[in-house]
Amino acid sequence: MSALAFDMNTPTGFAARLIADPLPAGWTGATFPVFNPATGGHLADVADMGPTEATAAVATATGALPGWAGRTAKDRAAAMMAWHDLIIRNRDELARLLTLEMGKPLAEALGEVMHGASYIAWFAEEAKRLNGEIIPSPDPRRRMLVLRQPVGVVAAITPWNFPSAMIMRKVAPALAAGCPVVIKPAEDTPLSAIALLRLATEAGLPDGVLSLVTCQRAPDVARVLTEHRGVRKLSFTGSTAVGKLLMAQCAGTVKKISLELGGNAPFIVCEDADLDAAVAGAMLAKFRNAGQTCISANRFLVHEAVMAAFTEKLMARIAGLQAGDGLAGGTTLGPIINARGLDNVDSLVQAAVAEGASLLTGGHRLDRDGTFYAPTVLTGVTPAMEIFRAEIFGPVVTLCSFSNISEAIALANDTDYGLAAYAYTRDMNRMWLLSEALEFGMVALNDGTVGSEAAPFGGMKESGIGREGSRHGIDDYVELKYVGMGGINQSAA
Ligand code: ADP
Repeated sequence: MSALAFDMNTPTGFAARLIADPLPAGWTGATFPVFNPATGGHLADVADMGPTEATAAVATATGALPGWAGRTAKDRAAAMMAWHDLIIRNRDELARLLTLEMGKPLAEALGEVMHGASYIAWFAEEAKRLNGEIIPSPDPRRRMLVLRQPVGVVAAITPWNFPSAMIMRKVAPALAAGCPVVIKPAEDTPLSAIALLRLATEAGLPDGVLSLVTCQRAPDVARVLTEHRGVRKLSFTGSTAVGKLLMAQCAGTVKKISLELGGNAPFIVCEDADLDAAVAGAMLAKFRNAGQTCISANRFLVHEAVMAAFTEKLMARIAGLQAGDGLAGGTTLGPIINARGLDNVDSLVQAAVAEGASLLTGGHRLDRDGTFYAPTVLTGVTPAMEIFRAEIFGPVVTLCSFSNISEAIALANDTDYGLAAYAYTRDMNRMWLLSEALEFGMVALNDGTVGSEAAPFGGMKESGIGREGSRHGIDDYVELKYVGMGGINQSAA
């Protein structure tokens, strides 16, 4: 931890330069409080904006569109890299802020800031490769061209579990393509967003290219962003339930949409797996961010021949987890974001026990300040249980056994979600079978993570639409325009 002295319970005591005053200049309207989930302490008061401010932000973005889209790609890339470099320079401060408002251990917060920034660098490069096409024409008198143009003003609605990276991951491809963005961060974690936008201003990104609408009641602001004719694209990361609602709201203006929604990731351990590697991967896939990620392993499907050995090794690692304030050295498990989240986790666990699952450890909130849940392991989980269907979003392992690979695949695919899947095996044939048969947008083989700016992140089925990252990520912010040039008569030349 940094030697900097700061009081985590006062707004001026932390990240002082970036967020000494979190209110926009001249703000006299209502505010809402932001709390530290590890301590319950009050961190700051933030502007509680509404439809008026959202409408104004869309107007500002619309005004900024021609100038930003009209710059050369090289110019846009340079402006993005100036922002990127400032983020890197301020990474420790951004990470501390993130831990304070969200609770994740500081090392994870720093990892998140660096991961988010990697999207800015990646898409700054991609901006320069937004090539069009010339299609060989079947008609000698016509030439056929394809232009790739910015979709227009983008609205980005982001979640609290990655308050920093989710903003960068959406804003980076949008800016690269030439689109201004109006950002609505989650109400639990607006401080990272405020800090990132201040750095964008400091880096010289033109006025109006990025705007922020912080608010406590998301639906009012979201309605403006989804129904406004001036917004041409919505990019949302959050729950499937809210994603469906926003998708319906976007129908009225036929907006383009990218949705990165919930998951119900299977984590398959075959009988030939390297169990130590599988347990290491399981710890990452389950306990990173206290299980509060859309790609968290949600269902552990373990071959019956290795169930006992896997469980024993996993239990030993879980016993070593250290719950606490993310700023304290040694903390490996942060809190659940808020009391509602804690209740959701606990009620899923209690329902599973009532339905016949057995608790090996945990199954209760931790008796300390903040909203912590004990690392929990449930055995005997079956597809009939709610916990097999629901996104747990907490540090809860559910164990379910299988006897052959076909059964494992059927169990894994028995969900309406389709985001990430994990599988451990040393058998090449099984690797291919799993890669091709699993109905998930991302399959991690012998690995506990999938996120990379160089890879397409996104889901199938009710886990979403569109991809973030990789060369494909910019496509979601681009319109293809066909230009047909007729009347060409080369013999007249
Ligand atoms: P989570 O389960 O991760 O909290 P949510 O879908 O509730 O996911 O939240 C993700 C984002 O969606 C946040 O910015 C939140 O403010 C916003 N949000 C939540 N409910 C609504 C709603 N009814 N309409 C529009 N936006 C919403």
